[in-house]
Order: sequence, then structure tokens, then C-alpha cells
Amino acid sequence: MEWDRETDVIVVGYGGAGGMAAIAAHDAGASVLILEKMSQEGGTTRTSGGRMRIVLDPERAVDFYNKICEGTTPRDLLQTYVYEGLKVPEWIRALGGEVEESVDGPHHYPLHLEPDIAGADSISPNRHRVKGPFGSKEKSGGGGANLITLLVKNVTQRKIEVLLDTPATKLITNEEGGVIGLEARHKGNPLRIKAKRGVILTCGGFSANPAMLLEYVGQNYYLPYCNPGNTGDGIHMVMEIGADLWHMSAVVAGFGYKVPDYDYPVPHKMPLPGYVYVDQKAKRFMNETGVDSHLMWTQVFYWDVRTCSYPRVPCFVIFDADTFGAGPIATTLRGKIGDVYQWSEDNQPELERGWIAQAETIDLLAKKIEVSPETLQETISRYNMSCIGGYDPEFNRTLQTLSPVMRPPFYAMRLFPCVLNTQGGARRNARAQVLNVHGNPIPRLYSAGEFGSLFHRFYIGAGNVRECIVFGRIAGQNAAAETPWK
Ligand SMILES: Cc1cc2nc3c(=O)[nH]c(=O)nc-3n(C[C@H](O)[C@H](O)[C@H](O)COP(=O)(O)OP(=O)(O)OC[C@H]3O[C@@H](n4cnc5c(N)ncnc54)[C@H](O)[C@@H]3O)c2cc1C
Repeated sequence: MEWDRETDVIVVGYGGAGGMAAIAAHDAGASVLILEKMSQEGGTTRTSGGRMRIVLDPERAVDFYNKICEGTTPRDLLQTYVYEGLKVPEWIRALGGEVEESVDGPHHYPLHLEPDIAGADSISPNRHRVKGPFGSKEKSGGGGANLITLLVKNVTQRKIEVLLDTPATKLITNEEGGVIGLEARHKGNPLRIKAKRGVILTCGGFSANPAMLLEYVGQNYYLPYCNPGNTGDGIHMVMEIGADLWHMSAVVAGFGYKVPDYDYPVPHKMPLPGYVYVDQKAKRFMNETGVDSHLMWTQVFYWDVRTCSYPRVPCFVIFDADTFGAGPIATTLRGKIGDVYQWSEDNQPELERGWIAQAETIDLLAKKIEVSPETLQETISRYNMSCIGGYDPEFNRTLQTLSPVMRPPFYAMRLFPCVLNTQGGARRNARAQVLNVHGNPIPRLYSAGEFGSLFHRFYIGAGNVRECIVFGRIAGQNAAAETPWK
């Protein structure tokens, strides 16, 4: 076979998992080449908060992850994730970085409320993030960009070669089905690269591929927060050589706003609990403050079979003057994935642009957003009565979050479920080997990160980045340890 070039290990995708895998393979003595499809490295990792849950009791944490993965992920893989994950701060220090503990603010907004299941208290509500110039430990965002900055520095120091604008397109196998190289396109030109020891797929999920989202996750989403390069290429490549897939129905999606002239959604976040969500019929449909923000998609995944439509997409957030005046109703992404709108501190510019609907009465607000005024009035009155009574019979909001929507003027915005990332991809084992449909490792093929994540549908945040680091490292070391083929 004719090759354009050769190396020991090829890493496909230069986000958090790819950067970590490349460094580990290099440090284990292999020559490494990283291929990145986009013209900038970082992937979705760069846009992320980069937060990693702090484990307090490892064995119970394994039970907890087993539960939330619905038993789909083997226990030895979860043990590797949890126990190796304890060493992440040490590894980050070895790369010249530092982790810091980030702290959540008060739970006015349903961010990372722990589900009431066994083992949940084995994980701290606080998380680790890589320290650096982006974001701060008090605010979400920025930790992913700090991690990428650290990884890029280490990759550069090691003189690991990186080819940007180079999507991998096809894996090349030998007669035994082992992966011996791949085909790619470098700036539009075909490239055939031999991998003497192995190939590591760290090419992310399919959040930027609407057709795959509809096919595998079963819902239409508004434009993703993720890297536009995450279009599921790895899935097609491994299907072609007989890999098994897993966690394809798993998605991480919160609520966001669609604002004119910007390609990316603005993440929704309320400064006070004085708000409700209503569907297109102006009715509440969920405990607004009781669902983890990563799982909001589960609440709007309701299909009206009579009209063949999603009556909760979009839905609306309704709030009053107290909540409006308490601070921004959105957060700003710090990932520089595109032209992301920078939300103001007081919501005024957004109000003046007409993005936030405002009216002196609930009746007028309903007319503005084109829902039934009678129903919206009734919904808000019933909710306010629950606040006065201290009990929410419909959706069981906690007492601390039962703040009325009472003081005019009233406000509304449309909400869409927006994808952060998917979890589906090739099934892998605890050694980061990709498995075929018979459960056997495909020789010389490894993977890490959200491409075939260990997580299934029930995801409560701050898990993926640690997975990138742990399995990126394992994949890199194991690929480097393969005997070179001639
Ligand atoms: C706004 C936001 C906040 C988040 N916050 C957190 C958080 O705080 N904690 C947490 O744990 N998780 C968080 N996540 C999720 C987490 O960021 C991702 O799951 C994780 O970073 C994925 O890393 P990765 O290396 O697997 O993929 P990525 O970082 O996406 O890297 C994959 C790379 O592969 C490239 N690629 C794709 N196809 C090809 C191809 N054919 N050839 C070559 N390259 C290719 C892509 O362009 C991309 O650069 C967040 C996500 C978002 C969007």
C-alpha cells in the first residue's frame, strides 16, 4: 500500500481528549501526529466550563455512576474513571497547570441539583477546573479554554506535529481487521497516513449534525453550543469497520435563547427563582427549579401525536420586575466558537432591542407572545397561590424557590433546547480500546472523550471533561505500547 507519510500514533481530533492522548502517547515514547478538521484546535472542550466533579467517596461514586448510566457501562470502566480521575489534579500539575475548586452560587437556577438517588452525596457539589485567564472559579465557563491552553502549550513544547484543516475520512485496516492507518484530507488534498502503532479517535460527538440528532436522539434542537466540527465523522468511520456503538440516544441539552443575527444560542439562566416555564398552551409543565440544567431536554421531549408537533419547543419563561431587576437572565459563552452575543448585566439593551417581551399585565404579555391570555392568567394566578401557600401541588417546587411572579411589568422570552454535547459513539473498554459488534477489541484502535462516552442519557454535568483526561491518557499510553507493524 502507498502511504503519503507515517507515524507511530495518529490522534484524530484536537480537543481535550485528543490533546491529552497525544501528550500521553508522546511521553510513552511514540511519534505522534494530530489531525484536526477545523482551522483551530480546542473543539467543544474550548467552549466548555471545563468543570470536573470532585469525588468524596470513590466506591459509592462508582455505584452512583452505575445507577445514572442505567447499568449500560461496565463497572471496571466506571472504576477506572473514578479512581484514575482522582489523579487529575496531579497530572495537571505535572503539565505545569493547576486546578482550583469552583463553587456554585445559590440554587436559584436549576444548575446541578443532585438527583435524589443513592450515592449522589459521594460527589461534592463543588468541582475542579483548570486555573487560568478564562472565567473564574465563581462563574461557570472558561475552565475548558484554560485546559486547552495548557494542553496546546504542552503539545507545542513536545514538538508534536498538528495538521489543522485535516479531517480524517476513513480508517484503513489489514486482513485481521486491525487499524493500520487512515485516509484524510489536508486542506482539500487526499492524504494516506500509516499508523505503525495505533489510531486514537477523539473526534467528539454529533451535536453539530441535525440529521443525526433527529435520527439517534429523536428531537430537533436549536443550533448547538458545541464546536461546529462535531458532526459525527468518527461514527461513520467506525461503522465501516464493524465497531459497536453505544449511548447514541444520549444528549446533554439545556435551555437557551435564539437572538437575531447570532449563530449560537445564548444560555438561559435566571437570577432569582421568581419565574415559571409555560408551553405553547400557556401551561406549566415541569418543576422549573428542580431539574438539572443538563437534563432540560427531557422535559420538552413531548410530542403531540395529534398535531405531529412539539408543544414545548419553543416554550416560554415568564417572570416579573423583581426577577428582571435582579441580574442577567443569561450567561455568556466564553469559548470563542463563533460570534456569541455578550449579554448585559441589567437586561436593558436586550429589552430595548425587543428580544425580551414586556407588558404591564399578564393579559397583555400573553397577547404579545401569542398564547391564550385566559390560560396564562390562570397559570400565573395558580402558581402565585402556591407561593403564598408554600406548596406547589402541581410540580412540587421547593419552598425556597416558590417566589411569586407578581410585580409588574411582566416579561417573557422564548426558550429552545440547545445541545451542549452528545455521548454516543464507538463502544470502548476500560483500556480505551474500541470494541467490535462481538465485544472484542478492534486491534490498534482506541478512543477517548465524548466520542463513545461512558455516560448514558442521565447526565448531571461536569463529567465529560474528566473522562477526556482520564481516557485520553489511557488511550495514548496503550496505543504507544503497541508493537509497530512492518
Ligand atoms: C457550553 C458547554 C459547557 C460545557 N461544560 C462542561 C463542563 O463544565 N464540564 C464537563 O465535564 N463537560 C462540559 N461540557 C461538555 C464537554 O465540553 C465535552 O463533552 C468535552 O469537552 C468533549 O471533549 P472531546 O475532546 O471529546 O471533544 P472536542 O473537544 O469536541 O474535540 C473533538 C475535536 O475533533 C474534531 N473532529 C471532528 N471530526 C473530525 C475528523 N473527521 N477529523 C479530525 N478532527 C475531527 C473536532 O473539530 C474537535 O476539534 C460542556 C459543553 C458545552 C458546549
